Amino acid sequence: MSQLLSGKTALILGVSNRWSLAYAIAQAFTREGAKLILTYQGDRQKRTVEELGAELKAHQILPCDVTKDEELTRLTEELKSQGAVLHSVVHSIAFGDLSKTVAQTSRDAFGVAMDVSAYSLVAVARAVAPFMPPKEQGGGSIMTLSYLGATRVVENYNVMGVAKAALEASVRYLASDLGPSNIRVNAISAGAVKTVSARGVRDFSKLLEAAVHVSPLRRNTDPAEVADAAVFLASDLGRGVTGNILFVDAGMQIMGFARSEQ
Ligand code: NAD
Repeated sequence: MSQLLSGKTALILGVSNRWSLAYAIAQAFTREGAKLILTYQGDRQKRTVEELGAELKAHQILPCDVTKDEELTRLTEELKSQGAVLHSVVHSIAFGDLSKTVAQTSRDAFGVAMDVSAYSLVAVARAVAPFMPPKEQGGGSIMTLSYLGATRVVENYNVMGVAKAALEASVRYLASDLGPSNIRVNAISAGAVKTVSARGVRDFSKLLEAAVHVSPLRRNTDPAEVADAAVFLASDLGRGVTGNILFVDAGMQIMGFARSEQ
């Protein structure tokens, strides 16, 4: 069977363990024939990500803490020294202290959530764009991961909802800025999935339960479904799609009031 990403190289930021959405995306990209470059955040993650990368036969594993400009510069220098060409880049990164309501969130906590979870997409896009093929050769695809809390109030999602709103607005502006180079920028808004980051949301299990009762498909989101949508966006099949927020959430996002159990 033909592979949708054969001959393409993808840089994936945000794998930290087997439960990471970025790991599911890396698996799907490997299945579709992409050459992978993975990054990890800090020495604590190095070993795990190297082990996962070896299983995925990743071409390279590089450090990149997105809050450190020098690490982004080092990443681009490394890519430059290899003469790397990137066809797609997956930004699957977020961090914030969600323990307080938005009304109680400090300036510092607000800034951290925005820096790591929203601004980093801008910094990454700027760093990687020069490595994407010229427009006549197809350009490239950049994608990030968002959540419904960007546009609706989801209990306990708190400042991350504000950061995701900024992330989704950044997707639209980046899509406009980079579109003339045929670089597409999109977000996948995933349904709730149990990951390490998700543990930061108080009563997260209630979101999982709600999806089973309320979503049109009456079930939770499978990371593999998110990953297949990422394949679509990275592949030529997604060539006409940019500035979009693609919901992969069993339809949760269309629902208003929760229905009683059926
Ligand atoms: P995860 O914890 O596996 O992934 C989050 C990643 O962000 C980790 O790899 C972590 O190392 C990385 N990260 C945090 N700070 C960083 C920094 N300074 N530099 C570099 N990397 C940094 O959890 P996940 O659920 O796979 O999250 C991935 C993305 O998916 C996030 O943007 C998250 O908001 C989004 N998302 C998750 C869900 C869900 O329910 N799990 C739903 C929708 C969207």
